[in-house]
Amino acid sequence: MSDLYCVFGNPVSHSKSPSIHTAFAAQCRQDLRYEALLAPIDAFAASVRAFVAAGGRGANVTVPFKEEAFRLATRLTVRAELAVAVNSLRFDGAEILGDNTDGAGLLKDLTKNLEFAIAGQRVLLLGAGGAARGVVASLLEERPAVLVIANRNTVRAQELAQRFAAIATAARPRGCGYLELAGQSFDLVINATSASLAGALPPLPVAPSVFAPASLAYDMMYGKGETPFLAFARAQGAERLADGVGMLVEQAAEAFHFWRGVCPDTAPVIAALRTLAPAG
Ligand code: NDP
Repeated sequence: MSDLYCVFGNPVSHSKSPSIHTAFAAQCRQDLRYEALLAPIDAFAASVRAFVAAGGRGANVTVPFKEEAFRLATRLTVRAELAVAVNSLRFDGAEILGDNTDGAGLLKDLTKNLEFAIAGQRVLLLGAGGAARGVVASLLEERPAVLVIANRNTVRAQELAQRFAAIATAARPRGCGYLELAGQSFDLVINATSASLAGALPPLPVAPSVFAPASLAYDMMYGKGETPFLAFARAQGAERLADGVGMLVEQAAEAFHFWRGVCPDTAPVIAALRTLAPAG
């Protein structure tokens, strides 16, 4: 019988994880079945236990359960502990091992697929929610010259920056509100807010632009053509634009490796997703 994996979310029917992992399994000749499972908002833990009892070997976790997955895990990887959020679970007897592959996925997309070297660059991260938390450690590992975290709720941004200050090997991260960005410019601006989901734009200053002339604007959101953030970045002079499809596939590949010990080739899977939902 094939090994069983799934993604838990609510909602979850839109998830691209089943097609990504099915493609990885075919490519790596791994005998597994992967499905999307809708967990009731108040019954995530019970849904996980039922899945394990049915023979489940591992799971991805998406909105809104990443923090609950963090609490449910009996053991955590270092990166999950730093993120205080889990997006991948592995079931090993009575043990539930929790990992967070978002940061590694973003880094692979930026450095390998987009060939953007973060070292020495000025980086602006927008948002202080689960996605932002998952990527701060990975960004810091690359030793940017500056890492500023801006959020609508300024206190959340400051707390996030403070939490990671101790592990910063180069510049210490700084948290602020959007108004404090006035007059600053950055080489890499990452939108980790959920604003694009609602067709909205984070309240970035218009003049002068936060996008330095040769900058890369990166929106973690994907799949609906050009997002409001990327359209704004283009108008504001960003030289390069990227959506989150690459990160989605790269974080899935990290999870696949966490479960199966093999690294799939992500390029054909990213290309196939782009054919289905071309970026704008
Ligand atoms: P959360 O709900 O945890 O956090 C939402 C964040 O967005 C908060 O910082 C919130 O600010 C901010 N925000 C929401 N609306 C606005 C707005 N109109 N203007 C400015 N800021 C806003 O969500 P996640 O962090 O889990 O997800 C964020 C995004 O990242 C989603 O679009 C998700 O799809 C994407 N994502 C993509 C991945 C990929 O692989 N490509 C992986 C993970 C996430 P405040 O605190 O002030 O409310």
